[in-house]
Amino acid sequence: MNTVNGGISFWYAQDGTPAPREPLPGDASADVCIVGGGYTGLWTAYYLKKAVPFLNITVLEARFCGYGASGRNGGWLYNGIAGRDRYARLHGHDAAVRLQQAMNDTVHEVVRVAADEGIDADIHRGGVLEIAHTPAQLARLKDFHAVEIAFGEKDRELLGARDTADRIRVTGAVASSWTPHGARLHPVKLVKGLAAAVEALGVTVHESTPVTEIRPKHAVTPYGTVRAPYILRCTEGFTASLKGHRRTWLPMNSSMIATEPLPASVWAEIGWERREALGDMAHAYMYAQRTADDRIAIGGRGVPYRYGSATDNDGRTQRATVGELRDILVRFFPRLAGTRIDHAWSGVLGVPRDWCATVTLDRSTGLGWAGGYVGSGVATANLAARTLRDLIQQDSGQSGPTDLTALPWVGHKVRTWEPEPLRWLGVHTLYAAYRHADRRESTTHTPTTTRLATWADRVSGRR
Ligand SMILES: Cc1cc2nc3c(=O)[nH]c(=O)nc-3n(C[C@H](O)[C@H](O)[C@H](O)COP(=O)(O)OP(=O)(O)OC[C@H]3O[C@@H](n4cnc5c(N)ncnc54)[C@H](O)[C@@H]3O)c2cc1C
Repeated sequence: MNTVNGGISFWYAQDGTPAPREPLPGDASADVCIVGGGYTGLWTAYYLKKAVPFLNITVLEARFCGYGASGRNGGWLYNGIAGRDRYARLHGHDAAVRLQQAMNDTVHEVVRVAADEGIDADIHRGGVLEIAHTPAQLARLKDFHAVEIAFGEKDRELLGARDTADRIRVTGAVASSWTPHGARLHPVKLVKGLAAAVEALGVTVHESTPVTEIRPKHAVTPYGTVRAPYILRCTEGFTASLKGHRRTWLPMNSSMIATEPLPASVWAEIGWERREALGDMAHAYMYAQRTADDRIAIGGRGVPYRYGSATDNDGRTQRATVGELRDILVRFFPRLAGTRIDHAWSGVLGVPRDWCATVTLDRSTGLGWAGGYVGSGVATANLAARTLRDLIQQDSGQSGPTDLTALPWVGHKVRTWEPEPLRWLGVHTLYAAYRHADRRESTTHTPTTTRLATWADRVSGRR
């Protein structure tokens, strides 16, 4: 079968890689230096420049803007944020409700700015539909649904088997939970549009410029050093490659496949007319979207982690992972057993030791960072960027604290990951446990989550 494997992502195969930008020509200075040209770095440059047009902002990108997860993701623009429940425990329920509300608003904000900037990223606001297959998944779905409502999502809907099937015919789906706070998008069209928008505003973007070390007021590259009062680390799953950050955030792998475009006859069977972002309640969960050109792009964990915090080679994906994703696709939609898989790819997420996303500006050094979004960064990066803008404006005396700087994820600190081989063993054991739990739950039909999965959640720090 002629499946393209790697090539960064299907989204680039479809939309083309961008024309390269010049590397850093030598030592330079700036008011703000941003390391990493994904959504986090680019949104931060965007909002800072909009707020203070005379700021001299430089973005340094190791490969090209959108090379990382921002050019490879599943295109779920949605209101999930990693760590919200822990933030509720640490800072109180009301603080976490404010964080959730900010995330709900962020979905609208991304859609608004894309429209204002003329970025056509195939955005379709169909919300997010998460389905349950087994009695244990159903119990988790109901809990999840109730928790989301308790965090302010009054407009969420719980659908039974029949109502779920009215929307999408997923074999064996017993129920689903739908939220309007989500949209499907084309990740690369968004990141390319953003890079063009920040350049048009006057931000300097240097590509093919890896930063080897960040220290107060300095971003060091093989071609020269950028000196700036503020240096912002926006490197998510690649953070381990920076000096001193090997154990800061773990690069977790996520893999995807995209089918060939599916004909109208298949869509008549499947439904999915509202093009919701689609997910499930398995421990090793899947995520999917119906693309603008009528393919299914579906993702899941695959090989979770590479020894020594290594990252993939331009998205190349193990054959076994491609097979596993195809199996999920066919389990959901048996009609697709003979469907061609056009593309398979992978990318890395940033996972902190406590699975909580953070945004921080250290006012004593001028060093800032945002990330650790786990698998929910498409919208979260935008909220992080607006928060970094406010933190810098506050620090430089241009404004006071804002609603965003008061959110509970600001300034959160967490310990680093264990050294190898413990890190590798831990993550692989965790995902072996999740897979085992999923298999067990689908055969035993018990409504209780398998103890192994609960144990894995607790040991890993995930819950
Ligand atoms: C397969 C996959 C599917 C996903 N699906 C979803 C989804 O559907 N919804 C969702 O919300 N989230 C999803 N995510 C997560 C989401 O894509 C990320 O959280 C988000 O894109 C992170 O953006 P970022 O800018 O922080 O990081 P990245 O996009 O990874 O950008 C970091 C950039 O920094 C550059 N860089 C790294 N090191 C250096 C250095 N030393 N010097 C200079 N530059 C450097 C990299 O080249 C890269 O361009 C997915 C992720 C993956 C991998």
